[in-house]
Amino acid sequence: MQILYGFILALIVAYLAYRAHSLDKSGAFAATFVGTIVFGVGGWQWAILLLTFFITSSGLSRAFKKRKQGLSEKFSKGHERDAGQVFGNGGLATFFAALHAVYPESIIPWIGFAASLAAVNADTWATELGVLNPTPPRMITHLRKLVEKGTSGGISLWGTLASLLGASVVALPAAWFANNWILLPLITFAGLTGSLFDSFLGATVQAMYYCPTDKKETEKHPLHTCGTETVHIRGWEWLNNDWVNFACGAFGAVAALLML
Ligand SMILES: [Zn+2]
Repeated sequence: MQILYGFILALIVAYLAYRAHSLDKSGAFAATFVGTIVFGVGGWQWAILLLTFFITSSGLSRAFKKRKQGLSEKFSKGHERDAGQVFGNGGLATFFAALHAVYPESIIPWIGFAASLAAVNADTWATELGVLNPTPPRMITHLRKLVEKGTSGGISLWGTLASLLGASVVALPAAWFANNWILLPLITFAGLTGSLFDSFLGATVQAMYYCPTDKKETEKHPLHTCGTETVHIRGWEWLNNDWVNFACGAFGAVAALLML
């Protein structure tokens, strides 16, 4: 029965997000699947964590739109998330919710779930709020090197603080529901390390492209916002932004479970 309630709640949330242009059609189907498992198997506490991530990250993607204009093309996709992005951010959380069904007594699925969401939330907050940093970011692999705002692998003070805040808004209910306050710093820190790992991948092996028309580096492929075909310049071609997000969540989960 709970699965049915989960499905109905997931369908409503996905439909509203689709209508609000936070998800495209494929993203809405993917979110319905993720939501059905998380709400249906986990229950309301799991639902609150997933919704905290979903609502705050979609909200931040829309906020400060004017100040971010011109930067959005650096990011591979607009604020309308597709199925790849939904699974990149929520696929691992779905796995941990399913694991909870198999091991209902274990705290491990809850910690993995919360830490993976804390990491992807930290990453989204850092990306969305980091661009508001007054000075240009620095490359995570080369801290003396200043790069253009929005560059993958760039980090800043604002971005890092946003990342900590983004992780802690997930860690707070996670610790509260588990009635275990060690989880607050543990999951916050795990989320931060996951988002730093995301930046590290962005600076090293994530697939990067170049638009010959605008003479700019971009994550967009095969076509740039201007319609020109982009050319691969560095990184592993299969390692797109969705896989980097997945790795960010996985790193957060592993970090939390190791610290435990
Ligand atoms: Zn272009």
